[in-house]
Amino acid sequence: MIDYQNIINSITTSLKRVDDRGIVASYIPELASVDVNKFGIHIVDADLNRFSSGDANELFSIQSISKVLSLSKCISIIDNDLWKRVGVEPSGDPFNHLSLLEFENGIPRNPFINAGAIVVADILVSHLKNPKEDFLAFIHELTNDTSITYNEKIAQSEKDTGFRNIAAANLLKSYGNLLNDVDTVLDFYFHQCSIEMNCEQLSDAFFIFMNHGNCQNGKTFLNINQVKRVNALMLTCGFYDEAGEFAFEVGLPGKSGVGGGIAAVLPNEFTVVTWSPGLNAKGNSELGMKALEQLTTQTSQSIF
Ligand code: GLN
Repeated sequence: MIDYQNIINSITTSLKRVDDRGIVASYIPELASVDVNKFGIHIVDADLNRFSSGDANELFSIQSISKVLSLSKCISIIDNDLWKRVGVEPSGDPFNHLSLLEFENGIPRNPFINAGAIVVADILVSHLKNPKEDFLAFIHELTNDTSITYNEKIAQSEKDTGFRNIAAANLLKSYGNLLNDVDTVLDFYFHQCSIEMNCEQLSDAFFIFMNHGNCQNGKTFLNINQVKRVNALMLTCGFYDEAGEFAFEVGLPGKSGVGGGIAAVLPNEFTVVTWSPGLNAKGNSELGMKALEQLTTQTSQSIF
């Protein structure tokens, strides 16, 4: 039996001493005030044992990690039809780059770059009766926790400064790959990114990706082939132009967000979430990457 509690305690202690903690995202002004010294980690394993260390119970903005959940909701509704409108290849570009989108005629490279997630948001706006309420209800079902909600201040802050996302949505619209109006889709997208969870809640939300599409109470949200696709995309595209580095160092499918969270899974074994708001130059959590590298190296566990 691996002593996860002991291992994550020692990771948390060793990371407390690290000086280079990265830089907190400031392009969404409301995120800039988060304390760079925060660090939390939570693991939930297949038998529902839980292990927590550091600031694992503090809420943070999940940002791009929400793209995995919106993708899941989307393919649970339209399944493989999604791939007519979004690709499945890594972009090798930062999350908000637009040049490839024009080059590839309005079909985003994958659902985890912003343009791809905006197409997914468009599909959810088309299919959900009350998109924001229904998406939140989906997350409540996944986590069995109805306290999870949007942070309106963060959504507004991003709306006020989201010029590149506004540009991406307009470019998609010009190629006919956005069916609803730009403002409605972006309002949904900015809200999904503004959802706040702590490490424990996010571990619960990601439980389906390590458990063949079934959540903790046994309810099925995705079939096995859909989970394969989501996990493959996390592995190849979950960290933008650092996806190779994450696979190389950590060896798990995962997804980062500019709020400093990282959620990752080892299928059949565990779900792990780290949160440390300082980002590296590629927009991924500096200490989160380090913590997960230490976790998989010290336990000799990875998908490989
Ligand atoms: N809401 C952010 C954006 O669209 C999400 C980016 C991220 O977390 N990488 O810019």
